[in-house]
Amino acid sequence: MFLSPPAIIILGMEQTTQTTLQVSDRCDVCGAQAYIRVELELGELLFCAHHGNANKEKLAPIMTAWHDQSEELTRR
Ligand SMILES: [Zn+2]
Repeated sequence: MFLSPPAIIILGMEQTTQTTLQVSDRCDVCGAQAYIRVELELGELLFCAHHGNANKEKLAPIMTAWHDQSEELTRR
């Protein structure tokens, strides 16, 4: 056994929060392709790179996770 049971539980929790954005996902502000997914206690928001950066400071106090996939999606 490489991992003790607590380590396995922690890894499992991280994996459940990983959702890859699709090309069909759209920015909630302007409708452009979404590159940033923001998790909040009440749900989630999708943003293009521009609006993600524009709203980052405002959302910082209430967001639980920030996923910026702009590098992954533009590498295609
Ligand atoms: Zn936008």
